[in-house]
Amino acid sequence: MGLSQLLGQDAARRQLSGILTSGRLAPSYLFYGPEGVGQEEYAVAFAKAIFCPRVDGDFCDACYVCRRIDHRTFPDVIWVELRDDKNKGKANVIEADQVREELVERAGVSPMQAERKLFIVHPAEAMSLSAANCLLKVLEEPPSFSHLLLVCGNVNRLLPTLYSRCQRIRFVPVPTPLIEQSLLDAGTEPETARLAAEISAGRPGIARRLAERNLLEEALSLLREVYKAATGDAAAALGISTAMGKDRNDALDGLALLRTLLFLALRAAETGQPPAGSLSKGIATVAKTAGAARLTAALTASLAAEEALRGYSNVTLSLDTVVGELVGASTQHAAS
Ligand SMILES: [Zn+2]
Repeated sequence: MGLSQLLGQDAARRQLSGILTSGRLAPSYLFYGPEGVGQEEYAVAFAKAIFCPRVDGDFCDACYVCRRIDHRTFPDVIWVELRDDKNKGKANVIEADQVREELVERAGVSPMQAERKLFIVHPAEAMSLSAANCLLKVLEEPPSFSHLLLVCGNVNRLLPTLYSRCQRIRFVPVPTPLIEQSLLDAGTEPETARLAAEISAGRPGIARRLAERNLLEEALSLLREVYKAATGDAAAALGISTAMGKDRNDALDGLALLRTLLFLALRAAETGQPPAGSLSKGIATVAKTAGAARLTAALTASLAAEEALRGYSNVTLSLDTVVGELVGASTQHAAS
């Protein structure tokens, strides 16, 4: 195991290998790209490669240190992440207090087991303005043994001064066939692997998460709700939003599934050819019922809903728009 075993990202891997073999770490790094394309996995791998005592410039993934980094119990790798409160649920902002407590106050304290310390802020774009300003102060005078890694899924939401201060490593979407093959290698059933890879839009983490679920069944039941909406049944809105789940990740997965089904239906409506496999009949029916115009509008609305949720906004409103487009509300409106 090592960096070469990770999926895709050849350019980023080459850059990281260069940094790791030189042995000279910059004070701060920014791993950025579309959310979920691999920057999190690479952040863990980078941490292991810095601290693994067995391999120079890479990691073994088997030793005590590598395993403790996996379990988030290695004391010199400190994660600053969205807090998960039992009562309040998961926070969607990293506030200044948290950055002060978990990072600023600890950055000057000597490492416990290694010669350096690595602070990983994830997702860095979730930092409030004052949290980001707190972090900037550390970046201005970094203690020599402390290093910072910002993991970012939306660089447009990051304070420009943070962006410019870090050494940047860019991550790009992973090609769908590569993701599909990795799922097949892991033993996923072929039709699920193909659908999960397609839905993931270049994000291997999402594909893996989806492949563990009963994806085809979920797709079929969501297709039924989409069909209901397309026949003008407004109650389908509830079914569709239930399918999105409560947690942000569930909602993102659900929206990605919805977007893919709408896309497949649109393609079927335009070419008259639904995809092969167990979804074929459902997609053909939706394509025929909704028609290309309404599917295009619903697809556009679902992309906007995904964008809204990635920006940590409330998704319910945007979902209503998706269903509205399927029902044909705006087309009816325009016709009247
Ligand atoms: Zn190791």
